[in-house]
Amino acid sequence: MDGFEVLDARFAGMVLPNAPLQLLAEGFAWLEGPVWFADHEVLLFSDIPNDRIMRWTEAGVSVFRSPSHFSNGQTRDRQGRLITCSHRHRNITRTELDGSISVLADRFEGKRLNSPNDVVVKSDGSIWFTDPHYGINTDYEGGKQGAELPALVYRLDPGGGLEIVADDFEGPNGLCFSPDETLLYVCESGKQFAEAPRRFIRVFEVEGKSLGAGRVFHKVEPGFADGICVDEAGNIWSSAGDGVHCISPEGVLLGKILVPHSVSNLTFGGRNRSRLFICAGQHLYAIYTNTRGCAVP
Ligand code: MG
Repeated sequence: MDGFEVLDARFAGMVLPNAPLQLLAEGFAWLEGPVWFADHEVLLFSDIPNDRIMRWTEAGVSVFRSPSHFSNGQTRDRQGRLITCSHRHRNITRTELDGSISVLADRFEGKRLNSPNDVVVKSDGSIWFTDPHYGINTDYEGGKQGAELPALVYRLDPGGGLEIVADDFEGPNGLCFSPDETLLYVCESGKQFAEAPRRFIRVFEVEGKSLGAGRVFHKVEPGFADGICVDEAGNIWSSAGDGVHCISPEGVLLGKILVPHSVSNLTFGGRNRSRLFICAGQHLYAIYTNTRGCAVP
């Protein structure tokens, strides 16, 4: 099968040998934060260094929001509203149905967040997000600013309270729940510019509003896991240096979709949530698969 690496027989049934990787658009600076709007058949995604959120449809690509304040990860809440991480403004925002933008979190105990990177919403309406230093380390991705807090993972209660759920990361990055929400997967992408950064996917048991002890779930190589998403069967689909890796719930690498550029983030979308949208550096790709993502909402 051209364009794939099948490492486990289970993977052969998840992809389609006659569905090629499609280049949807290119010429961006650095893409992350893809989020699918099934109700509009629209993909929004962040072009971080260009300080804008882009909109893709089958008709083409346009600018959705500029400036985006160096937006990064995005998702939708259970009401379908857009939730966005901003590096420059160091916050999590919600775009309301009337188009106005509400700041949901920008401080913890009076100190400014660093640069929220990625975000997911649980079915109880709580918002879980990572807050590494990457976006305030460089002018390219948000503007150099001083850190006031360590790199942490947070849970924002629907009532507004912000709590730390993990404090032993060097660079928490992408995250996603298992389909039944009993597990939370979080990418550790390590200290930026370090010679040998800690890079692996960790998994935690979700215990109500907090997390149990985490363990290393899988180490992605080559490259590392920046963004991840989950399919209906609980397989984790991760960004990697050579494309997209599919990892079983037991942590076994099942196969790869090969992409000519390093992949940063990805999400399932399309009419049946079976089309994988892939942010790969300066390029936006998509590929139809034979699995379905657990999309929110
Ligand atoms: Mg990220």
